[in-house]
Formats: sequence, structure tokens, C-alpha cells
Amino acid sequence: MELNLSATELYQLSCESSEIKCEFCDTFQCESWETLPSSFVLSEYPVVGNCRFEGSSDIWEEYHPDKTTMWSNHAPIALRYYPYNRSDVVQCSHCKRVYLRYTEFGGYYVDQRIRLVNPSLIVLEEDASS
Ligand SMILES: [Zn+2]
Repeated sequence: MELNLSATELYQLSCESSEIKCEFCDTFQCESWETLPSSFVLSEYPVVGNCRFEGSSDIWEEYHPDKTTMWSNHAPIALRYYPYNRSDVVQCSHCKRVYLRYTEFGGYYVDQRIRLVNPSLIVLEEDASS
């Protein structure tokens, strides 16, 4: 059973994390989308939900009202847009930090990517405006 999370639910979940040091999370940085690092211990990051919704896999548009790019640390986390609309939500079992993960299928490669969820970047108005 996978739980579909709304932006509000993702926001609340990501606010639960503590600021403590974490022996798992502190080994990598992913303020923006990064290739899943080899130091990432999958078993410590259970999937707690996903951001998919009906028709989401057909949406390739990105959301950058402030001229950010997909690789910006301050790019908005807009669940109605790519690649958030196909992401899984995982949570560190130690510090409760929340991350998004998705798989990029390029022409000649498959890339697992991850991004830390910073609650202040989540676009909460999207449900009303779309
Ligand atoms: Zn952690």
C-alpha cells in the first residue's frame, strides 16, 4: 500500500525532522537533485509515500517561476510538476529527514536521483491554482 501525499502532507512530514546529527544523512548532500550517492544506505530510508497522482506520468513540465533550474538548491518543490510528480518519498529512520527519489530514464542510462525536502520550498498553493 503506497500512500499518495499531498503538498500539505509532505510539508508536515518534512517538518518532523530533527536537526540532530545523523550518521547516515550527514554523509551526503542533496539540497538539489543529485545522483543517488553510493554512501546512501537504502535500508535506512523506508518509502513512506509517493507524489504521484492520476495522469502525473504524462506531465514533463517543470516549475521555475523565479528562473531557477532543476538543479538549483532553491528550486521549488512543486508536486504537480516534473520530476516531483513521479517521486517516491523516503524518510531517514534515524533523524526523520525526508527525501524525494525518482528514476531518470535517459537514452542510454538510468539515473536514480534524490533531493532533500526543505519544507520552505514546497509549493502549497498548487492545488488551488492548477
Ligand atoms: Zn538521517
